[in-house]
Amino acid sequence: MPQVNGRFVPDMKSPRTADNEEPAAERACDFRPVDKGFTEEMALAEAERCMDCKRPFCVEGCPVNINIPKFIEQIRAKNYGGALDIIREESMLPAICGRVCPQENQCEGKCVRGKKGEPVAIGQLERFVGDQPELASAPKMLPKNGKKVAIVGSGPSGITCAGELARNGFDVTVFEAFFTGGGVLVYGIPEFRLPKAVVKREIDGLEEMGVHFEYNSVVGNITNAEELFEEGFDAIYVATGAGLPKFLNVPGENLPNVFFANEYLTRVNLMKANNFPEYDTPTKHGKNVVVFGGGNVAMDAVRTAKRLGAEHAIIAYRRTEEEMPARRAELHHAKAEGVEVMPLVSPLEFVAGEDGTVCAVRVQKMELGEPDDSGRRRPVPIEGAIEEIPCDVAISAIGTNANPFAAKIGGQMELNKWGYIVADEETGQTTDPRIWAGGDIVTGAATVILAMGAGKKAAASITASLTGAAE
Ligand code: FAD
Ligand code: SF4
Repeated sequence: MPQVNGRFVPDMKSPRTADNEEPAAERACDFRPVDKGFTEEMALAEAERCMDCKRPFCVEGCPVNINIPKFIEQIRAKNYGGALDIIREESMLPAICGRVCPQENQCEGKCVRGKKGEPVAIGQLERFVGDQPELASAPKMLPKNGKKVAIVGSGPSGITCAGELARNGFDVTVFEAFFTGGGVLVYGIPEFRLPKAVVKREIDGLEEMGVHFEYNSVVGNITNAEELFEEGFDAIYVATGAGLPKFLNVPGENLPNVFFANEYLTRVNLMKANNFPEYDTPTKHGKNVVVFGGGNVAMDAVRTAKRLGAEHAIIAYRRTEEEMPARRAELHHAKAEGVEVMPLVSPLEFVAGEDGTVCAVRVQKMELGEPDDSGRRRPVPIEGAIEEIPCDVAISAIGTNANPFAAKIGGQMELNKWGYIVADEETGQTTDPRIWAGGDIVTGAATVILAMGAGKKAAASITASLTGAAE
């Protein structure tokens, strides 16, 4: 480590360490992880680029304010366990966040080195230490306090809350509708971006801490809030996500082989439809696939279609590439894998072929007009500019709504007019003082780190409320 008068001197000349990716043509044929992560040598070189700023803007950019320069300093000292302990003070899931957080809009977007060049690869460094959990200190567990908490949903918000509460001495049971834990991390985000084993490792860790998981348990169906309280639970945290697909509301949307992205991804990610008939769930392996949307979900769907054998895979988006909300890395990877981006189009109608399944989609060409409420320029139809794109699979990835089961969970929770749970921003407490809520079911579809942050805040509030401990 270069030093002058005992002080670390950053390496200002080195370019950002390039990602360690599988070659695009090879990886697009199977579900292997696209990014292999930094080697130790790469991590040490990248850590030397951090300037250890007096005012680290990167920390302000991180939604949970991880002490980034401090953990990078520990990497430079080769104390990887120490680096992980620092991250874990704020984030329970570094191996996951290092892989999927939109760092370019968060920590790396604020990194001072990014002003005149490339920011420090903070996400890759987080992942590097997150992938060595065996080096971290054992979690400090408080003695059991005799209180029981039920968590509804095992996505990032639910499992973060569960982990925090287990550490604080609570008996925690997580009720999950699916047969396995992780929420979108397992059913939505594909293996090539976030291996299932990484998520399982986190769930296993929680089980080792004493968290109990009840799978195939839909709260609002097999049981509800009042029954859980009668069974002896002292509080409930609801983290059911926002997985209800939004309709395109165009003719032909119900045709065979027109999918919602979440359904398509769940079939492949969770039900292993790519291995049909070895596994029971089939899906259509399209040759010409069109995906509508411009976010991470659309990217995951189109890259999955490519891996299922699509020769022509298109992302059709009503604005331009610049306005796409997807992580830049995903767009870059998709294009490298041969995905075509078709900007400024909006679907008008899905057309059926002779066999009754979708054979084309008619689209309206758009142009950008004045900015809308989101600050992005509004797409406006160009009169008479209509095209037909041939396809044998079409996928809609234009967003999701609140999970409707939230309304059936019961208690005195208030929902807003869109079906999201009303909860205090700081504590997560709902209008029913026995119930807390957080993650996508409160904010609408957002990010993993925000869902985790909500779980952590709620755990602190539940702890304070049930034990009187200071938050
Ligand atoms: P979820 O992850 O949705 O988990 C909710 C869980 O609750 C699910 O397991 C569900 O089965 C369960 N559940 C629902 N109702 C009940 C019930 N009544 N009883 C019991 N269990 C129930 N974010 C990023 O930061 N980076 C990305 O790259 C990224 N990519 C994404 C890709 C896809 C395909 C999708 C769909 C989302 C992506 N996101 C990404 C968004 C991110 O995954 C979500 O914001 C986050 O998972 C929300 O977490 P959550 O815990 O609130 O809900
Ligand atoms: Fe290091 Fe960038 Fe953070 Fe400064 S802003 S401490 S250079 S990561």
